[in-house]
Amino acid sequence: MASRAQNHLQKPPKQPPRILKKQWSIDDFEIGKPLGKGKFGRVYLAREIKSKYVVALKIIFKEQIEKYRLHHQLRRELEIQSSLRHPNVLRLFGWFHDDERIFLILEYAHGGELYKELRKFRTFSEEQAATYIASLTQALAYCHEKHVIHRDIKPENLLLDHEGRLKIGDFGWSVQSRSKRRTMCGTLDYLAPEMVENKAHDYAVDNWTLGVLCYEFVYGMPPFEAESQKDTFRRIIKVDLNFPSTPQVSPEAKNLISRLLVKDSSKRLALEKIMDHPWIIKNANPIGACWN
Ligand code: ATP
Ligand code: MG
Repeated sequence: MASRAQNHLQKPPKQPPRILKKQWSIDDFEIGKPLGKGKFGRVYLAREIKSKYVVALKIIFKEQIEKYRLHHQLRRELEIQSSLRHPNVLRLFGWFHDDERIFLILEYAHGGELYKELRKFRTFSEEQAATYIASLTQALAYCHEKHVIHRDIKPENLLLDHEGRLKIGDFGWSVQSRSKRRTMCGTLDYLAPEMVENKAHDYAVDNWTLGVLCYEFVYGMPPFEAESQKDTFRRIIKVDLNFPSTPQVSPEAKNLISRLLVKDSSKRLALEKIMDHPWIIKNANPIGACWN
């Protein structure tokens, strides 16, 4: 990030005004246990010393960002994410930097990655799956209203708070991290046909991904999984969708999935219609929190 970057902080909700200050530094935080490691940095549990407010501090080395020429994109994404206020979107409270590192002050998601839960239980109940899909749909409707397309929604980017409420983390990076992933380990599974084919795309890519996630939540694996990237690619563009006989899944869930995994992006079920879908109405917990 450019050295002229301004320190920036928005006040965490329901905090006394004394924690509002313009310039943050690492000395304002007590650093706790590591929470994880990403492509560009490490995330630690941390506490703002004065207010005792617990956050997740993501530390990114500037060298990494510069190597991939990502500083403009990072800056843009930080501005976007810090302007979003939704119960299902991970808050970015602010950021600051020193000579070598950029620090992101993030809402702490106590429940960790949704992905881990899914791997642990293999599948979610339809109630739990529908609650997650409804939470995601509402978060995406909010983002789309603000002209933000996420484009990189997948279980690894979904976190859970202390009440089991879903939070979309990690805004942006999408273009760069995806092209990297394509060559490195390849997670094509969540991409819409127009994206794997490198065609123009719009908000409807997120609706496709909702269909993929819904399938994965109830069946335990993404719908177009294959041995090789090439085969996944083929299955996505053909929309080669099968519903296995086990585990048993309700016809309403299959109906919703089939209406989202539609090749023609203009024919995918709209976000408002997802919220009115019988499967969501019947199964989703309106409070948006669910425990196993
Ligand atoms: P990317 O570099 O694309 O973001 P990533 O999502 O794997 O990749 P990070 O966002 O750096 O990497 O996060 C690394 C890990 O740290 C996450 O997978 C998650 O387990 C944990 N983590 C990240 N942010 C938080 C948070 N706000 N609260 C709790 N845990 C978090
Ligand atoms: Mg991440």
